[in-house]
Amino acid sequence: MKKWSASRAPAGRIAYVNGRYLPFAQAGVHIEDRALQLGDGIYEVANVIGGRMLDEEPHLDRMERSLHELGISMPMSRGALKLVMREMIAKNRIANGFLYIQVTRGAVRRDHVPPVDGPRPTLIMTMRTQDMAGLSQRLEKGIAVSTQPDIRWGRRDIKTVQLLPNLLAKQAARKAGAFEAWLVDNDGYVTEGSSTNAWIVDKDGTVITRDLSTAILPGVTRRIILEAMADAQLKVVERKFTVAEALAAREAFLSSATGAAVPVVVIDGQTIGNGAPGALTRRIRELYSDRAGVNTDLKKA
Ligand code: PLP
Repeated sequence: MKKWSASRAPAGRIAYVNGRYLPFAQAGVHIEDRALQLGDGIYEVANVIGGRMLDEEPHLDRMERSLHELGISMPMSRGALKLVMREMIAKNRIANGFLYIQVTRGAVRRDHVPPVDGPRPTLIMTMRTQDMAGLSQRLEKGIAVSTQPDIRWGRRDIKTVQLLPNLLAKQAARKAGAFEAWLVDNDGYVTEGSSTNAWIVDKDGTVITRDLSTAILPGVTRRIILEAMADAQLKVVERKFTVAEALAAREAFLSSATGAAVPVVVIDGQTIGNGAPGALTRRIRELYSDRAGVNTDLKKA
């Protein structure tokens, strides 16, 4: 039988689990890990471009906040985490892809009540490559979204691994022929995408995205785009918007670590603007790329 060693595994197949770098087939967690049993954990997804993790500090800020909100301790110091993250990128030999980080409350006899002290949090990291062809196609042609009821819990600002409502919405959107679901609250306002933040551009060229609250995830990409837009003195308002406003918008787009300013050209089968990716969306993507220090090839991707 072929013997695995971490350094000989195929690119993108090394996982980090609680202090060890292992080939995927050998990587696993305890059967009573609280994320597996109860969804008791949080995660981050970061973009890696040219072997460098983008927006490292904001991702770590959000990770610390999510853990704090759930009363889970940091699995190691920020400095140590950065070292493991860099080691993962190097060991997986992935220039362009995504780093997935998960922290759970740890493994302990199943009980709804979180233990007062301990167990030690579980730390997992995996990596995968970016589908550049798929992203190019989405940027060039734009994507369709389908609106779905937002049936999630009341603390959507915490990036927990409990994603069942998100994935059901995404599944429904795919069934409807759309790439992403835009989630709609009981009052008819768009909260965000199932795994992205939602943006529209109104007739006057003002960019609108929902304001931060417990209703949405504070997207790292959203934050960087807002900073870049402020620097470029572009008009932007953080407020909620209705589905009707979105349908009447000049442009629409979504943002996430897996794709900044991806144009939305169809909502619920209705064409947005002239049905092509908008100029402002492209500009915002360029501003984000400049800020993230991404090379121009990827900017055009
Ligand atoms: N909103 C939700 C519900 C998400 O799951 C995500 C990312 O996974 C985002 C927004 C975008 O956040 P970020 O830009 O940090 O990837």
